[in-house]
Amino acid sequence: MAKPPRKPSTSTSLIHHPYQPPATFAAPQIGVHKASTVLFTDTAAMRARDWKHKTGYTYGLHGTPTTFTLEERIATLEGGLQTLLLPSGLAAITLVDMALLGSGDEVLIPDNAYNPSKELARHELARFGIVHRLYDPMDPASVAAAITPAARLLWIEPPGSVTMEFPDVPALVQAARARGVLVALDNTWGAGLAFDAFELGADISMQALTKYPSGGGDLLMGAVTTRDEALHQRLKMTHMRMGFGVGANDAEAVLRSLPSLSLRYEAQDRAGRELARWWTQRPEVAQVLHPALEGSPGHDHWKRIAGAAAGLFSVRFDERYGLAQVDAFVDALRLFGIGYSWAGPMSLAVPYDLKLLRPAARGALVRFSIGLESVDDLIADCEQALATLTTSR
Ligand SMILES: *Cc1c(COP(=O)(O)O)cnc(C)c1O
Repeated sequence: MAKPPRKPSTSTSLIHHPYQPPATFAAPQIGVHKASTVLFTDTAAMRARDWKHKTGYTYGLHGTPTTFTLEERIATLEGGLQTLLLPSGLAAITLVDMALLGSGDEVLIPDNAYNPSKELARHELARFGIVHRLYDPMDPASVAAAITPAARLLWIEPPGSVTMEFPDVPALVQAARARGVLVALDNTWGAGLAFDAFELGADISMQALTKYPSGGGDLLMGAVTTRDEALHQRLKMTHMRMGFGVGANDAEAVLRSLPSLSLRYEAQDRAGRELARWWTQRPEVAQVLHPALEGSPGHDHWKRIAGAAAGLFSVRFDERYGLAQVDAFVDALRLFGIGYSWAGPMSLAVPYDLKLLRPAARGALVRFSIGLESVDDLIADCEQALATLTTSR
């Protein structure tokens, strides 16, 4: 007589549970799907599954319903066809460099670029025999001159991270295209809303989802979007071999923020311009750097390709105020947090010593990121903090 099947122990039955996802639970917002292991019904199904073309799920690192959905949403936002997700914006830059460059190759980076991108080039890329050249993004002729036969990749960042110069993107793309050099555009500032990177001729649009797409100031993530399947596969294979993945909770948080992306971008754009204009009237100020302001470097370039702007600008103080005075002004701000990053709900301010950013420049600069507070409150805060400002001489 056959023995009845052995009843598994509690620990075993807690793991081999009979749960099935509810088939008709069609909530519009995607759930948090967490996995390293994804089970196959049998070995034939395991062998048939093709992660490279997303025919199904194979392993958490290769994607889950949550990350596949976010990839699709970011590709749509960017006007691209494929997106890869990475654990930070900087990791997204790293992926592009590592996937497309090898020993003896050259990469061109704007001299006002997000500094960690230059640091990566100075250290890891240099160690792997990759040469980087810094170019002046406001001088397309200097770019053309810097492109050698070894050049493989040109980075464009509109506008420069802290100094806010807006380059002539089509001219830079043209210079690269003419020499068969791939173009990667850091689209963190534009967020896929201010202009279309692919319409401008970029091959790759990279974004720190940490900023506008998250909008919460509470997570880190990067995206690399393309329109060309072969280029996507080159990036994807390196992405897989280097083991870049993102957490499901973070991916879901970005998905939850995306529906309000354009509203937040517009609100912060409006508030940023209002505050920037207010600063132009102040006697303490030498220059307000905001691409949408007449007279700001590259304003005409911005006007030609973009309608909108991020809520981000910098104020260069008159040289009668030294770095210590400007630091004291920042310390006196009550609503602005002192901290890096941007596009979150809280406005932020960071002081910079200009000579560390640009060898030829002098003085102190404060980079403001405008959050979602009332503009009147932010202006009043700047006003009271300015009242504490004393000159150094
Ligand atoms: C913040 C930022 C990055 C890097 O993003 P992280 O997620 O902080 O690594 C890259 N480029 C630009 C322009 C950024 O502002």
